[in-house]
Amino acid sequence: MNRRDFLTTASATSAALALNACNESDRKAIDYSKHPQKKTDKKNVYINKNKKTLIKLATSWPAHFPIMGTGVEKFAQRVKDVSGGSLEIKIYPKNTLVPALAVFDACSSGQIDAFHSGPYYWKGKNSAFSLYSGIPFGFTAEEINSWMTFGGGLELWREQYAKYNLHPFLGGNTNIQMGGWFRKPINSLADMQGLKMRIPGLGGEVFAKMGVNPVLLPAGEIYTSLERGVIDATEWVGPALDIKMGFYKVAPYYYSGWHEPGSILELTFSKHIWKKMSFEHQSIIEVCASEMNANMTSEFHHENIYALSKLQGLGVKLHNFPADVNIAGKKALKEVVSELSSKNEDFEKVYESINDYLQLSRAWSDVSLRNFLNER
Ligand code: CA
Repeated sequence: MNRRDFLTTASATSAALALNACNESDRKAIDYSKHPQKKTDKKNVYINKNKKTLIKLATSWPAHFPIMGTGVEKFAQRVKDVSGGSLEIKIYPKNTLVPALAVFDACSSGQIDAFHSGPYYWKGKNSAFSLYSGIPFGFTAEEINSWMTFGGGLELWREQYAKYNLHPFLGGNTNIQMGGWFRKPINSLADMQGLKMRIPGLGGEVFAKMGVNPVLLPAGEIYTSLERGVIDATEWVGPALDIKMGFYKVAPYYYSGWHEPGSILELTFSKHIWKKMSFEHQSIIEVCASEMNANMTSEFHHENIYALSKLQGLGVKLHNFPADVNIAGKKALKEVVSELSSKNEDFEKVYESINDYLQLSRAWSDVSLRNFLNER
C-alpha cells in the first residue's frame, strides 16, 4: 500500500493494516535509553548556587497574550521557583527585543537564548518544519503529543533543528482549530471559488488548491479587512481567542474545521546554551516545559468551552463545511503533500513518519474516541 494513501483508505483496510503493523515483530519498540526526555547526560550535574543563570526568551506573542503569552509567563515563574531562583527566564514579548517572526533566526544566531512560537512559521527555512505543527486532517492534540513523545517525532524535529543550533520542546497545543469566519454561507464547493481568505500554513496551500485565494495579513488588520470586504473569510484559532478578535460582528458564519486539528506550539532553546546548562537546570526545564505543554493544552480547551457558549449567546450560528468541500480538501492535501515531498527529502521523511503513525492511531482513535463521542 502506498503510504500516502491514508486519506482514501477505507477504515476496514486501515484496521487490517493496523493489526498487521501491531505484530510485535513489526512494532518499533520504544527505546527509553534514547528517549529525549529521559536522557541522563551528567556532565554538568551540579548547580553553582552562587551563580544565577539568566535565559533571554523572546516570544511571537504580545505581552500577556491570552493562553500562549500568559502560559509562557507561568512557565518562567515555575522555572524560577523550582530552581530556587538559580535559573531565571526573562521574557521578551514580540517586538520588544526582536520582531515576532524573527525569533527563530535570533535564537539560531545566538542573539537570544530561547523562544516560544509555532513551527509552521518556519516553513520558508524548511517546508518540513510546518509538519511539526500538524497537518490538515491529521493528528489531534493527544495524537501529536503521542507521536512526538513516543513515536519518533521529537527526535526527528530535534535532528532537523540541530542544523540551526536549536533544541525544541513541545510548548502547548491549541487543540482543534475552527474552520473560520465567513461573511456568506458556504453551501457547496462552488461558494469557495475565488474567496479571499486569511489562512496561513499548509491549510492555506490546501485551500488554494480548492479554489480559495489565501491572503496573509498581520493580526491587527484582519478585522478591518473582513469588515470592509477586502477579505471574505478568515480562520484564526478557536472560540477562546476568536471571540476577542470580534470577527462574529462582521462575518457571522462560523465553521468547524479540519485544517489545524491539533497545532502545537514550541519552546525552543539555542542548542549551544542548552548544552552549557547544568543537568539539574536541564531537568528543571524539561519538567516545567512538560507542565506548560499540558497546562496550555487544557487551558485552550477550558477557555473554548466558555467562549463558545458566549458566542452562541451572541447569536453566532455554527456550521460544518458541506461534504464536497471536505472531499476536495482531502484530495488537495494529497496533491500538496506529493508536491512538497518531491521537492524536499526532509518533508518526505517527516510526512512518512506522521503518516505511518496516523495509520495506526486512527484505528484506535476510531474504535475508542469516535465511538464514545458518538454515544455520549
Ligand atoms: Ca489558525
